Amino acid sequence: MTHDHDHHHDHGQDIPSATALRVKALESLLVEKGLVDPAALDAIVDAYETKVGPRNGARVVARAWSDPAYKARLLEDATAAISEIGFVGSERPHMIVLENTPEVHNLVVCTLCSCYPWPVLGLPPVWYKSTAYRSRAVIDPRGVLNEFGLTLDDAFSVRVWDSTAELRYLVLPERPPGTDHLDEDALADLVSRDSMIGVAKVAAP
Ligand code: FE
Repeated sequence: MTHDHDHHHDHGQDIPSATALRVKALESLLVEKGLVDPAALDAIVDAYETKVGPRNGARVVARAWSDPAYKARLLEDATAAISEIGFVGSERPHMIVLENTPEVHNLVVCTLCSCYPWPVLGLPPVWYKSTAYRSRAVIDPRGVLNEFGLTLDDAFSVRVWDSTAELRYLVLPERPPGTDHLDEDALADLVSRDSMIGVAKVAAP
């Protein structure tokens, strides 16, 4: 697939941006003066990476699992269906939702940098931006999934999707068994960030 990247925006190149350097300088100064605890900063970043941001994506997934008409709209035009729920940013990348099935497992990467569906997942995890993940996800997706603890049998075909600045992918994971009685809120609680990138499945409750 083609990879038409727009690198005018700041999204995770190897050379730190001026903003990143200023943030690092401020953080160092605040820590040195004893004004902030680095562990507290790490906890905040972790919360945004794993909880606050991905809550939006989990809501989209739970709605799709609960409402077949919404799911159809989501697969047809994800950008519009996601804004129905109200997650709209100032910069709106075009979104595509990829449905996992018993035959197909989807995995999302950005081979050139770190393009990520931030309106629904928030901040990308560090591993998503790493050279190892970016290169190996394409060459050896099953090996990468094994390292994340996800072993897929050969019946699955694994599809890898390379994000760009203009086009971001969100995986719609398979709804786990034993969840028929759960409402949308309870379903959303089950959906992890990693399952929406494609490096995990959603575990049954
Ligand atoms: Fe990128």
